[in-house]
Amino acid sequence: MENIAWGELPFGYFKTDYNVRTYFRNGKWGEMEISSSETINIHMAATALHYGQEAFEGLKAFRGKDGKIRLFRWKENAKRMRRSAQGIMMAEVPDDVFFKSITTVIKMNERFVPPYGTGASLYLRPLLFGSGPQVGVKPAEEYMFLVFVAPVGPYFKEGFKPVDIQLVRDYDRAAPLGTGHIKVGGNYAASLRPADRAHKEGFASVLFLDAKEKKYIDEAGPANFFGIKGNTYVTPESNTILPSITNMSLRQIAKDIGLDVDLRRVSVDELNTFDEAGACGTAAIISPIRKIVDREKNKTYQFSKDGQVGPISQKLYDTLLGIQLGEIEDKYNWNTIVE
Ligand SMILES: *Cc1c(COP(=O)(O)O)cnc(C)c1O
Repeated sequence: MENIAWGELPFGYFKTDYNVRTYFRNGKWGEMEISSSETINIHMAATALHYGQEAFEGLKAFRGKDGKIRLFRWKENAKRMRRSAQGIMMAEVPDDVFFKSITTVIKMNERFVPPYGTGASLYLRPLLFGSGPQVGVKPAEEYMFLVFVAPVGPYFKEGFKPVDIQLVRDYDRAAPLGTGHIKVGGNYAASLRPADRAHKEGFASVLFLDAKEKKYIDEAGPANFFGIKGNTYVTPESNTILPSITNMSLRQIAKDIGLDVDLRRVSVDELNTFDEAGACGTAAIISPIRKIVDREKNKTYQFSKDGQVGPISQKLYDTLLGIQLGEIEDKYNWNTIVE
């Protein structure tokens, strides 16, 4: 086992031993290659660089108490990457190529899979982009699918810490009929300026509204939003929201613990009716929200009064993490054991 301070690792890049690459050329996917290089050689006219043909994924593998490595819901990531590919006219990565790549890269970097009990996990970053040259605006004929990994620490090192979020109206991350529903880099480019401003003004992240009416909640930066109202888990539905696999899992867990689940448009006016609120995604599972400040209207919605996490958010988090670590029965077969 490596001499790494697992519990102190940030959520960030970390050099490991290997990554894996597969190329789509002449209309078909080739054989996966294992590389120990951190760089790629890319054509200067690659469409990824000029026209944003690029999509990515993010998923985690966990070392359980039994020593086994569990991959969480990889098929959903593979499916979502295919939808992203369709959305911006890239070659779709078949499930078998996706699976072989993620399991190989985990096994090749096994010494970087954090031990059980450290709170750390192995983050996998699959990446698909147009590598072939074009100058006219059209899709590439060649694509590269690459997966690298990085051990990442627990998101909240001292346990849950509710965050403050800034609601903005002067930026949009996605257009109503644009690419908000797929995981493409372009959406992130559009979110960098407002996110940077929010950080400078003391917030952890931005809450975007629907671009058309500025009335409905869209996303909390790179995470989905949810609220708890009485006995109901409420989360926005919109075709500009990226369907979070964490959110999908939390909705199932919410049902299983006896909550009602409401997937619908959620108006900003409703914010003051929530008992708890959070942002969800693979990196943190849940980032509980302490308060949301509407930057333009200078209005504050407070959720956590004493800096504590709400009981339902805590229960949802504990259950999902318990399943990922193999401590709680995985009744929907969300985990795949890597062997
Ligand atoms: C990846 C992502 C999420 C979270 O999705 P998970 O599958 O739960 O990790 C949420 N919003 C955006 C914009 C994303 O790109």
